[in-house]
Amino acid sequence: MSVASKVIRPEIQGMHAYAVSDATGLVKLDVMESPYRLPSELASEIGDVVSRVAMNRYPVPTAHELRALIREVMQVPKGCDVLLGNGSDECIQYITAAIAREGAVVMAPAPSFAMFAMHAFFYRLRFVGMPLREDFSLDTEVFLAAVAKEQPALIWLAYPNNPTGNAFPVADIERIIRAAPGLVVIDEAYQPFAGATFMPRLAEFENMVVMRTVSKIGMAGLRLGYVCGRPEWIGAFNKTRSPFNINVLTEAVVIKLLQNKKVLDAQAARVLEERERVRPELARMSGLTVYPSAANFLLVRVAGGKGAGTRVFDSMKSQGVLVKDFSGGPPLMENCLRLTIGTPEENRILVAALREALK
Ligand code: PMP
Repeated sequence: MSVASKVIRPEIQGMHAYAVSDATGLVKLDVMESPYRLPSELASEIGDVVSRVAMNRYPVPTAHELRALIREVMQVPKGCDVLLGNGSDECIQYITAAIAREGAVVMAPAPSFAMFAMHAFFYRLRFVGMPLREDFSLDTEVFLAAVAKEQPALIWLAYPNNPTGNAFPVADIERIIRAAPGLVVIDEAYQPFAGATFMPRLAEFENMVVMRTVSKIGMAGLRLGYVCGRPEWIGAFNKTRSPFNINVLTEAVVIKLLQNKKVLDAQAARVLEERERVRPELARMSGLTVYPSAANFLLVRVAGGKGAGTRVFDSMKSQGVLVKDFSGGPPLMENCLRLTIGTPEENRILVAALREALK
């Protein structure tokens, strides 16, 4: 027996690392990135910004300039604080670490974003995934009954939800927040495409914080997520944070881009327009169910028995289009594919490949 196999937790030995497909040479519509790069003038201004960064120095651990700009640009209510993470993935880790008392329960709808359960697992917490209905709507009564029974310390609600794309009704989310004995995190990763947010309501609910990311509006490669909430929450999460988690390049470039947020907003608006253009085209295809989406992707289900979705996925890939296949993954997702919305040209290629694959 090797030293590693004696020492590494057996459940870690038994798991797989998070897999991301190689997209080389493919139209990349698998992980909800913005399809747009920056206008060349802004890109060269960023080059200047980067050239002035003192890379020999550690970052300022509070990243106060970036946090102040986020408060202003994202309209974080007065009296609330902001925590930054190396992607919202890392914020999920910090929040979980802060609540990880022995025996604490973490709850979320299922399916939802995989990292909610992963971090609960890493911190040895019990994760309760409450199945959505077959059409991916939230069974609020069942969810509330589980909240009463399990008394979760932490509930994750992605609004809109990934991988399903739908936004649960606001009134249902309010009921869950009111009924929760612990913290509710509203994960608004897809807020730029949803047109709705809980951010202005932070003062109303003592037990709610709002998490967001800049990944879906053109900055996925920079890795920046943030959590907004009352200082009593943010101060606690901040204690679990690696002190220099936001690197100097990310900080400098995100500042420059948020000062030019109009450019990113215009790109997001184009994605939104495309989502609305593509959706009816897919809805007309026979053998395909298209689910409602308030995000920058569409979830579809391929009709047919086991393997039908993966066959369509494989055919699309062989035609040069990479999407995400959920067959064999989370419950309820058999034969489901998640299609990220790209540029008009990419979407034309996507639709043609899907049509061909369904033949
Ligand atoms: N929350 C949700 C609901 C997501 O879908 C994602 C990414 N797919 C994230 C959080 C993490 O995003 P990031 O780490 O890029 O900020």
